[in-house]
Amino acid sequence: MTLDLYSLPVTKVSGVKGKKPEELLALGISSVGELLDYYPFRYEDYTLRDLTQVKDGDRITVQGTVAGVPQVQMYGRTKSRMTCKIVVDPLFITAVWFNRHFLKDKLTAGTDIVLTGKWDQKRLHLNVTEVEFPGRGTSQTGTLQPVYSVTGSITQKWFRQTTKQALLQFGDLIPEVLPGKLLRKYNLLPRKQAVALLHLPGSMEQGQRARRRMVYEELFLFQLKMQAYRTLNHERADGVAHPVDLPAVRAFVRALPFTLTASQKNVLAEILHDLQQPFCMNRLLQGDVGAGKTVVAAVALFAVVKAGYQGALMVPTEILAEQHKRSLDRLFEPYGIQTALLTGSLTERTRREVLGSLQMGMVDIVVGTHALIQEDVFFRRLGLVVTDEQHRFGVQQRSILRRKGMNPDVLTMTATPIPRTLAITAFGDMDVSTLRELPKGRKPIQTYAVTHNMLERVLGFIRREVAEGRQAYVICPLIEESEKLDVQNAIDVHAQLQFAFPEYKVGLLHGRMAPAEKDDVMREFSQGRLHVLVSTTVIEVGVDVPNATLMVVYDADRFGLSQLHQLRGRVGRGEHQSYCVLIADPKNEVGKERLKAMTDTNDGFEIARRDLELRGPGDFFGTKQSGVPDFRLADMVTDFEVMEQARDDAAGLVKQPDFWTEADYVPLRHYLQREHIFDSEMLD
Ligand code: ADP
Ligand code: MG
Repeated sequence: MTLDLYSLPVTKVSGVKGKKPEELLALGISSVGELLDYYPFRYEDYTLRDLTQVKDGDRITVQGTVAGVPQVQMYGRTKSRMTCKIVVDPLFITAVWFNRHFLKDKLTAGTDIVLTGKWDQKRLHLNVTEVEFPGRGTSQTGTLQPVYSVTGSITQKWFRQTTKQALLQFGDLIPEVLPGKLLRKYNLLPRKQAVALLHLPGSMEQGQRARRRMVYEELFLFQLKMQAYRTLNHERADGVAHPVDLPAVRAFVRALPFTLTASQKNVLAEILHDLQQPFCMNRLLQGDVGAGKTVVAAVALFAVVKAGYQGALMVPTEILAEQHKRSLDRLFEPYGIQTALLTGSLTERTRREVLGSLQMGMVDIVVGTHALIQEDVFFRRLGLVVTDEQHRFGVQQRSILRRKGMNPDVLTMTATPIPRTLAITAFGDMDVSTLRELPKGRKPIQTYAVTHNMLERVLGFIRREVAEGRQAYVICPLIEESEKLDVQNAIDVHAQLQFAFPEYKVGLLHGRMAPAEKDDVMREFSQGRLHVLVSTTVIEVGVDVPNATLMVVYDADRFGLSQLHQLRGRVGRGEHQSYCVLIADPKNEVGKERLKAMTDTNDGFEIARRDLELRGPGDFFGTKQSGVPDFRLADMVTDFEVMEQARDDAAGLVKQPDFWTEADYVPLRHYLQREHIFDSEMLD
């Protein structure tokens, strides 16, 4: 029985007493294991440097001899500047201290001294931050000192001492988790050694090597969890094996108003295959805006209904729910498939009616917002849940369904492509289908970035498109005038445009309107009765009006890159040439990068990559529940190759029968157990 460092309280480390345990807790540290896992985020280098080898501005440590009398200038009672000549072979330099004149008496000529500070090459000045006198007291000279993220009364010094002490007392008990096979494959340091070196590296190289080992471990464990989840989910086989009527599905596809792209056919084959398997499908469908995800979902829903089950389509807004309901009705009408709408704004009476028919199985497909998967919604035989433009179908939602005795297949559709790095982390537990092409005949959208003083020309552009029978969107960041922000608001712009185009109908749409009002406006626009639609970003995702060919975005520099791409994706959905005009302040530097990306490319995969670069993984989805893990050491972008390697290793391992029996894998199996991979709730 080995000692579990994670159940050993941190107070076992000598020196951790008084208020310290409480303050460590604020850093998330309560056990010895957690203390040892709290890694420095960088190192301070105190190795002695040769002054002829350093660059201006470097932070360096040098050894020398005091060669002059210190000169002190006082500013007020406490502020001071002190200089002193020092010989640092072969140079004669000036050391400069601020507010440290109390050191004056120690600076007698001939004294050996070690100075750390910022080097000013031109003036031969060293702006000193730390001093040591060799032979007096403990020394950090020549070492790398870890720098931790600490606060309050916990100082770097105390934390360094405490981790050192913890390593001394418990370092030998740090268990290995990685199997010998992988350690050898990548020539990785044993865990014990790696942890010790991360806290106290002898050199940068050692620190790097320790980091490499721990980064691999971190990514590998994460991927192991994902892959085990996936494999176990497949093996549990507790889902619906839909008896899909392939000839009927083929006939349905043939009757569509267009031919499916090769990509659409491929992903459909993947989905239909999953539907027929006894496990719960957990699949992500990604593709660029306009790639035609909705029709793929419609075919899958059709297959499920034909197999005798019900389907649900979950969307983020009521406008989208309405739209999807309309287009599904068009497709399903000839087959006698019953659909219903379930959103938060139904009257209590209609809602009860819909719930009743769902429960009795009189409704085949229900389209709605999150109101769909609530405690009081019961299905007779739910077979498939499709979530559109949403990031994840949560564990919570699954378990609500499961408690009601349902274990449907789940298809998650994303609004825009997900960069590869994020796809294998945030969605690593899912099977992924990708639409790689747009329907044929689409003309690339022409995108222009313009400034506010070109507004007249933009209006001319709108007039020209509308005169040709097309429609235009005009997007504003705000609903109404704001005192704080000098940006365009939808209400004013709507009034201006209606004034500018008396002969046309200009509609207004924003999030503060009642749902019924919004639906009316949206319906009028999609039926072509409104020529121009001024809107806030409520129409950002999913809205599909193929006759709209012009997207104008006011204050475009205020929007994120993926958001702009989404907005642009509202046009270019039909056979007409489409345009996107981004009006922006040329002085906004951050905005400039995004606008450049937008005018450079129409490719959503490329946009997603750049967006990730500009925003970083945490912000990419803009939501907390994105499923992007917080890695301790690993960086999802720069360590991506390691991540891919780790994923392949993990996937291979969980498929190996001896993974579940061999002694070498015991720590990994324990880890999976701690992460609740075997609990049924986690699999829900
Ligand atoms: P998204 O992937 O952005 O959700 P949609 O599903 O809304 O895209 O499809 C965009 C438009 O393309 C819709 O008007 C849809 O009817 C049309 N469409 C989908 N598939 C095809 C296809 N294979 N050929 C032609 N048009 C298609
Ligand atoms: Mg869509």
